[in-house]
Amino acid sequence: MKNFSNEIKQELLDKLKGLTETVSDSLSDFSKGKPVFVSSETQELRMSICRACSDFNAATSQCRRCGCFMSAKTKLRQGSCPIGKWGREWWTKLKFLIKFLENVAIDFSNWLKKVGMKMQFLLGRNLMNG
Ligand code: SF4
Repeated sequence: MKNFSNEIKQELLDKLKGLTETVSDSLSDFSKGKPVFVSSETQELRMSICRACSDFNAATSQCRRCGCFMSAKTKLRQGSCPIGKWGREWWTKLKFLIKFLENVAIDFSNWLKKVGMKMQFLLGRNLMNG
């Protein structure tokens, strides 16, 4: 029971630490006149990654890992995913592009397999017909 309680305390402390860092970095940006928020396009990209994540609690819009409300955290330029699925604006776009290219490569490979199978079938039929 004692260990369980300590684990919960540690988890809460870790979540608070992450939240404090994000807020303090955002305040630091604000005080330097830097932009605090990302574009709505980037926020939507980040949210689409969260919605597809098994750690996303859709009922509360919270991340189970960091405990943050993602509709708010995804707006902050300093916000980032605790397991590196998205981060700064350029990083989010790069990851999205990599995922997109991965999907294109998978689709292309599946298409090649289908074409290859069809070619084998046609060649086999031609050989059988003489
Ligand atoms: S912040 Fe990261 S871990 Fe949390 S829900 Fe979003 S993608 Fe998943």
